[in-house]
Amino acid sequence: MPNVAFINGAFVPLAEAKVSIEDRGFQFGDGIYEVIRTYKGRPFALEAHLARLDRSATALDLTQPYARAEWTHHVLEGIKRAAYPEAKIYVQVTRGVAPRDHDYSDEVMPTAVMTVREFYPLDRSVQAAGVEAITTEDIRWGRCDIKSVNLLANVLARQQVKQAHVFEAILVNEGLVTEGAVSNVMVVQGGAVVTAPEGPRILSGVTRAVVLDLALKGGLPIQERFVSQADLYKADEVFLTGTTVEVLAVIRIDGKIIGDGRPGLITQRLAASFTSLAG
Ligand code: PLP
Repeated sequence: MPNVAFINGAFVPLAEAKVSIEDRGFQFGDGIYEVIRTYKGRPFALEAHLARLDRSATALDLTQPYARAEWTHHVLEGIKRAAYPEAKIYVQVTRGVAPRDHDYSDEVMPTAVMTVREFYPLDRSVQAAGVEAITTEDIRWGRCDIKSVNLLANVLARQQVKQAHVFEAILVNEGLVTEGAVSNVMVVQGGAVVTAPEGPRILSGVTRAVVLDLALKGGLPIQERFVSQADLYKADEVFLTGTTVEVLAVIRIDGKIIGDGRPGLITQRLAASFTSLAG
């Protein structure tokens, strides 16, 4: 089955899905997106992803072409057409096509695209062993809560990840850990789960919210506050959360061993709770 593409209301083969060179997403990165994955063929937390797409649209004064019920219909249809065992759905809305000018008019029609590709979950052995990360300066703009297609800083951080042969880059802003380049970061300190607060410095992850809820329900104290880079290295446990990484232990950062160098007990507990909820 070929990868499925959707453009402005129509499903077309991926190779035939084309957008104008005057699309403001292409010219200015003037657009927003979501990434959703399926478990047993069903999209996980679709409502939460579509709610965030709405929040991103509102923050950018961008017209959403479809109501949530319509997006839900298109996403489910895409999953059905692709018919993969598990799928990764990418949804993007840009402000649309207009002659290049920084400012915009309300008359521009948004461009809505979606792709559905096969999703290969992370190998269980990687989950069990944990991963390595590096830190890098968080050079992003002041509205990281908007899931914008402007990902240049993340692109550069991910290239560093590739060159360093590690799994993720943990972003540090003025000495404080914000999040990963494609994930949120959580730290276990004295039995509490600590993560950066919602606000303009981080993308409020769908998985982050699910995991914090699981921690609370499991009787673990949670603290939404920034952790310093120095305290990150000294943490009992560090883990990442995200749609594609789920709950993933980080066992080494910048070459320094975290905890005892193995996925910690709280991370393992939360990973297991997440798997039973989502999977
Ligand atoms: N933070 C950033 C910068 C991301 O790009 C992502 C996901 O791609 C996340 C956090 C995790 O968000 P979610 O759990 O909604 O996938």
